[in-house]
Amino acid sequence: MVGNTTIVPRAWAEAVAKPEIDEVRSLKSGAVLNVRRLIRAFRYERAILMRQKLKSLVKANGTRLVCANCGVPVYLACSTSKRFFFRHRHEDGSCPAVTRTGFTEAEIRAMKYRGNQESEPHKRIKLLVLRSLSADPRFADVVSEQTWRSSEGLSGLRRPDVSARLENLRLAFEVQLSTSFLNVVLSRREFYRSERAALVWVLPNFHPNYRRMTDDDILFSNNSNIFVVDDSTAAASEAAGAFMIKCWHRKPVIDGDQIVDEWVERLVFWDELKVDVDLQTVQAFDYSSEAAKLLEQIKSAKLARVAAQNEAAERAKIARENELRELVFGFVLNDDDEHMGRHERWLAINDRLLTHGCGLEGKYPDLMKVTRLVHLVMSAKSGKPVGFKYKNLVEIGHHLFHQHPDLLLAYGFMLRAFGTKSVLDRDDRTGRWAAKVREERSSFLSDAKYKMAADEERLLAFLSQGASRKPANDNRDQDGGRAAA
Ligand SMILES: [Zn+2]
Repeated sequence: MVGNTTIVPRAWAEAVAKPEIDEVRSLKSGAVLNVRRLIRAFRYERAILMRQKLKSLVKANGTRLVCANCGVPVYLACSTSKRFFFRHRHEDGSCPAVTRTGFTEAEIRAMKYRGNQESEPHKRIKLLVLRSLSADPRFADVVSEQTWRSSEGLSGLRRPDVSARLENLRLAFEVQLSTSFLNVVLSRREFYRSERAALVWVLPNFHPNYRRMTDDDILFSNNSNIFVVDDSTAAASEAAGAFMIKCWHRKPVIDGDQIVDEWVERLVFWDELKVDVDLQTVQAFDYSSEAAKLLEQIKSAKLARVAAQNEAAERAKIARENELRELVFGFVLNDDDEHMGRHERWLAINDRLLTHGCGLEGKYPDLMKVTRLVHLVMSAKSGKPVGFKYKNLVEIGHHLFHQHPDLLLAYGFMLRAFGTKSVLDRDDRTGRWAAKVREERSSFLSDAKYKMAADEERLLAFLSQGASRKPANDNRDQDGGRAAA
């Protein structure tokens, strides 16, 4: 177990310290990409899959990425410390980036595998697979090392370690003992896909914290499921009279705002596995669907949290506004404290109103103005004069016409909003008020004297909680004047 680096699947991928090829060009977009940044954008498990994808594409002459320097197709390679870099497909010395040793993969494989292909452990695992399958009467044609000819298309033939048939599904079992080149993994997958057969990679053992490159290639392209056949699983198959196999798979769980993985090891019946011939996956657990589901949960939990925070903030804002409004009303209505300092208190309150965007502006904010506005709101609300020395709402109306025409429209809107318009109508016995309004209606919007100063308008809207403004859905009147009438 010396010298193996195992990366957590969800960790971000990393480039080697000094990649020979430091920029690649996307043939699709034409963009030149910084290799280190590009690699870092992937999680490790995704980088492994991208490596497979690029390799397949290069093999099929469907290159996506080329060396930015020389234009030769590149594929992603992985160092023994599981860091990534790009390699030229071929090198003739014309590019300053040297990414290949003198040997081809086939040569290295030949050297590595010489006399090793049919090692004792390999034979042992093969026999265990045979024993396990033979224990289950449903599996037919269980044989070892039988030549599997391509039925169409793809050239060549394969000799799976063990093959079998379950009803219409043909199965090939390959024992994965030592490191295989990615090419081997990819071409076998392609072969069995075109044969409409399922390829099952079988390991003699597995541990999530000690994974070889080949293990990762098989693991991540198989939706994070990987299978082990050993003495105990063969014995279990024989005892059950049904094919059993040990499955290791990742299981996503939510940890705070992110997904982390647990590893699950369990003995499964073949029937529990889901086989997808197109994807060439055999799985006991659907990792990607489960992870996607959890991501959705995390997302909606986040949204709910933000909504709750916004709601709380909105409630707090309304509470602050209510408090400030009550402060203004209390200050104006309890004006019995005529002692010195009243004006200073008003200035302090106005400062607070200003921070809410509804204070009176200018150097000398008029205490009389706010007093008038508070009284107007209170009168309109209660249906009788408050703070005005008049008998009823009509008299206040006439007073506004003469002294404060700018407040007239707002007065009308408030009477409607507070439901006290009928009180005014009832008090207008002579009809003089109604006549006056009819007379002036056409100039309510055009005549500047009926327009409030902007700061006063905002303050009145704040004090009346919007009642002084024309309702947004009010389309009864085009001239706006009828509201006052
Ligand atoms: Zn190059």
